[in-house]
Amino acid sequence: MAAITTTANASAAAKNFDLVGHGARWHSLARAVAKDAVPQTLLLSGPAHVGKWTFALRFAQLLLCPQPVTDVNGLPAPCATCRTCHQVEIEVFPDFRVYRPLVSAAEDERDWVVAPEELESSAIHIAQARKFRNESLYRPTNGKRKVMIMVQAERMNEASQNALLKTFEEPIPGLTILLLAEQPQLLKATILSRCWEMKLTLVSDSTIEEWLARRFAGSTPRERVEAVRVAGGRPGAAWNEMQRFERLKANNEEVVSRYAQTREFVQRIARSQPVGALALTEEALRLAALWGKDDLASAQGENRKAADAKKIERILVRSQIATFLDELSGVYRELWKAAVGQPEQAARLAFGLDQIRKTRHYILRNASTNLALDVLFGSLIAPQSTR
Ligand SMILES: [Zn+2]
Repeated sequence: MAAITTTANASAAAKNFDLVGHGARWHSLARAVAKDAVPQTLLLSGPAHVGKWTFALRFAQLLLCPQPVTDVNGLPAPCATCRTCHQVEIEVFPDFRVYRPLVSAAEDERDWVVAPEELESSAIHIAQARKFRNESLYRPTNGKRKVMIMVQAERMNEASQNALLKTFEEPIPGLTILLLAEQPQLLKATILSRCWEMKLTLVSDSTIEEWLARRFAGSTPRERVEAVRVAGGRPGAAWNEMQRFERLKANNEEVVSRYAQTREFVQRIARSQPVGALALTEEALRLAALWGKDDLASAQGENRKAADAKKIERILVRSQIATFLDELSGVYRELWKAAVGQPEQAARLAFGLDQIRKTRHYILRNASTNLALDVLFGSLIAPQSTR
């Protein structure tokens, strides 16, 4: 069992340096660094878990590392072993600053609570924007360069975006600003026009599978296939699923992928009578809580104040259910793709997909979760019971 833990730790540490599937984008940036033509404000956009943070961290290391190396393509790369690279990785290097959305604003900065990524209502508040702006005016303390990152930049509210217009337009010499966003379209046009946008797109299954095989040497092909399926092109999601498998194995529990469990759940819907909706709701809540157990623990672990922990719990439960509904959509979509030549079946699945999407929307906007799920499963069961 100790061996499993060691492997997990070793691979977790190495993960930060794996740019899975974004090689071409990386090369264009590394070439820019080689020519000393670094973009000053760079917007890295792309779906959650696609690799934005990994990419940004490595780029920060490249800019700040005092002893960069040359990679196989003849381009500069961070050494990844020096004190600076390490300090950047653990976010303590003085010329490297990271801003993340907060659970809620507080007057005193010491009361700021960084939000878990899943928290839909978190925001970059005006106080943070002002701090970002002030800090952006200081010259680098160590070398020639400084890097500031804003994670989930689309969570800047209107006032924050306005406060930072000038900052993004003309950062001081040596400063590189990286904005990370899942939904860049939520940013104001005036912000977008000041950034150089680089889109990170979904990664091919084969690339992710190859990477997992390398990083999780003790894993089985079946586990990797399941993780790739859960991930849907997002290396970070595949990584999380593999880590979940490792934890299950360490606890001697059976490794069942979320995809397999969701498929089984969909089969249960198909077998259910109309009165079965309530039981399905219970099962859905159980699965959502099971999968989100670790997220909740880590989100609460970071927050000292009980009131915040409670608030986070309430919101996280909703995002866990949203995650479950995403998985459910994934299974419905696969079944729908396979329903070629069966128009009735295809129409039923399309209807289901639409219902799931609407329910997800309601739940994230504070509808009663149980009621919304009861209605959803009732509607998913109904078309079959009339056959
Ligand atoms: Zn280094």
